[in-house]
Amino acid sequence: MKLVIFGPQGSGKGTQAKVLSQFLKIPHISTGNILRQEIAANSGIGRQVKSLVEKGDLLPDQLILEIAAKRISQPDCQNGFILDGFPRTSGQAEGLQKISPIDYALEIWISDDEAFKRIATRRYCSKCGANISIAERQGSGLTACDQCGGQLLIRDDDQPAAIRERLFLYHEEAVKLKSFYLKLNSYVRVDGVQEVSEVTENIFQALGLSGGE
Ligand code: AMP
Repeated sequence: MKLVIFGPQGSGKGTQAKVLSQFLKIPHISTGNILRQEIAANSGIGRQVKSLVEKGDLLPDQLILEIAAKRISQPDCQNGFILDGFPRTSGQAEGLQKISPIDYALEIWISDDEAFKRIATRRYCSKCGANISIAERQGSGLTACDQCGGQLLIRDDDQPAAIRERLFLYHEEAVKLKSFYLKLNSYVRVDGVQEVSEVTENIFQALGLSGGE
């Protein structure tokens, strides 16, 4: 199964991608995570992309296509992959289709108001990189990762001005992605404003899988 998953920031696509990855035994690949790791490691690519990523601006298609192509050529992608955060433009979708045609493009839909609400409570662990919502937490859970105890921080691109920019960009690009994948008959959409398990169930149905939660 070669799957592209997309949705606005905060739509839960990362969470659903992880469930699908475990069920299908294929890797969940987030280009945002790859880039953040490169930045943290201060690698050549990291230094090249740092300011764009921190502002919430998209990288040039050619550069992100090279990064994605390199990742999906790894042996663990032999039986498929779940791409999260890539492609984001029709140019990237066309490029991906040439390298490795996908089976489904799944959109998880939530409104902008819901996206804002969710992103405002989102943190990441500075030690293990986990994405965590502090919405229902109390006390030290607000500042410490419950997996490794690392410090929880707000991503630079989750600051309000960057969120507005990213949602604007998302809608601009999502329209193009949707029409691109509709033409290929591979577009499916589920409503992301439900319990996580209900969203999972709808995704399994849409992809013709059995065994979802
Ligand atoms: P994400 O965590 O997916 O929101 O990605 C964080 C940032 O990485 C984005 O705001 C972009 O700066 C960059 N990025 C990630 N994926 C892509 C992509 N497919 N195309 C261009 N830029 C990307």
